[in-house]
Amino acid sequence: ATAQIGVTGLAVMGRNLARNFARHGYTVAVHNRSWARTQSLVADHGADGTFVPSESMAEFVASLERPRKVVVMVKAGGPTDAVIAELVPLLEEGDIVIDAGNAHFPDTIRREAELKAHGLHFVGTGVSGGEEGALNGPSIMPGGSRESYTTLGPILEDISAKVDGVPCCAYVGPNGAGHFVKMVHNGIEYADMQLIAEAYDLLRQGLGASASEIGDIFAEWNSGDLESFLIEISADVLRHVDAETGQAFVDVVLDRAEQKGTGRWTVQNALDLGVPITGIAEATFARALSGSVPQREAARGALPAHAAAWDVQDRDAFVEDVRLALYASKVVAYSQGFDQIAAASAEYDWDIDRGAMARIWRGGCIIRARFLNRITEAYERDANLPLLLADEYFTGAVGNGVAAWRRVVAAAAQNGVPTPAFSSSLAYYDGVRADRLPAALVQAQRDFFGAHTYHRVDRDGTFHTEWTGDRSETAQ
Ligand code: NDP
Repeated sequence: ATAQIGVTGLAVMGRNLARNFARHGYTVAVHNRSWARTQSLVADHGADGTFVPSESMAEFVASLERPRKVVVMVKAGGPTDAVIAELVPLLEEGDIVIDAGNAHFPDTIRREAELKAHGLHFVGTGVSGGEEGALNGPSIMPGGSRESYTTLGPILEDISAKVDGVPCCAYVGPNGAGHFVKMVHNGIEYADMQLIAEAYDLLRQGLGASASEIGDIFAEWNSGDLESFLIEISADVLRHVDAETGQAFVDVVLDRAEQKGTGRWTVQNALDLGVPITGIAEATFARALSGSVPQREAARGALPAHAAAWDVQDRDAFVEDVRLALYASKVVAYSQGFDQIAAASAEYDWDIDRGAMARIWRGGCIIRARFLNRITEAYERDANLPLLLADEYFTGAVGNGVAAWRRVVAAAAQNGVPTPAFSSSLAYYDGVRADRLPAALVQAQRDFFGAHTYHRVDRDGTFHTEWTGDRSETAQ
């Protein structure tokens, strides 16, 4: 029993996490269902540090010092359950099982309860940053018992990304909280990617600019408020030329965006909680639309556009409008995501510190961005902020761009360019700030056909109007 931490599941992610632990001086027990992967890790990367390879799960468990810390990094779903079932009889009270895969949070809630019954700690943790992050410092979102975090936390913080010397890892909350926050992170990632794609499309269609010219514009944006990993890689992608055809790379990629499902989970959960995450939902549906091949074929050429040729007069002003609209829409998407975290935290009793979540997303992960500092600061000003958008910094930053945002969304509509995320974010902004919403009419309709009752603006109580009778009002 010599290893301080173990990793089972040594495909790209597990292998790189194990190497990351080893590079930080930990003795790492390593195991994989098929022995060849374990052997190749040690053969190819033994120089990273000290690995203790085991062929069987029993040897692997025996090679760990107590309380054992076992990171499970296998395919999410059934395989994770299978590995846990194999591990549990070999472990002892107080040991910690860390599921670092992309589990769906209800599974994590279930597994945590099951392992607790065996006296074991189960830490469902989000890990973001892909294979590069796993090796060089990911953003880590661990859930589970606070007690487990006292021994495990320092190790995870050690191998996480650092921004200004601060680790991109913090205790999230009990049972499924870590995987939940990772799920919302991915949902926000969907929205952010879609918004950038819409900005690209607007510049392409509005200005007739080439992909590489837009790459240059994005590179410039990356030195301002929009500075982020996603803008940076988008600039890179847009400037890339396909070796085979000599065309812009983006022009030879089939326009169908796939998904592995975390965006869908985020939207499904938001529907359950009743939280309007329109940016994430539109981004998820935009991917679905892109893949709706028969529908697109039926519509192409058949649905009239009635749009005039787009003629942008002032190129620089338009670029700046799109930048401001992108920033404002992005703030909306994040504000909605943080709303969802707050709602889930209340629903599941997780007590999640939203400022800390923004802090640990500043580095290592796909949505890392300068602007996350602003979100952390907003929650430092008020930990219970009801709406991120309404924080004094964001009211200023977004307010500054509202006129531009309206011009961009209006131009897109007029010229037949689909901007579901830009447009729905603006509609959310106008909806949430409205003095009165037409929801009054919806509620009245509900009372009319279903006697669903209504409240009045001028006095307390619940009322119903006898719509089919004399239209008198009764208090319920
Ligand atoms: P995969 O998701 O491709 O899973 C492959 C690993 O799972 C292999 O080690 C494989 O073992 C093992 N495995 C599969 N089925 C079983 C089983 N029934 N019993 C035991 N082991 C099994 O690997 P990745 O490294 O891509 O991802 C690992 C986890 O990390 C996943 O949950 C993924 O969602 C998550 N993740 C991935 C990211 C990425 O960028 N790829 C980013 C963040 C999280 P064997 O070698 O024997 O086949």
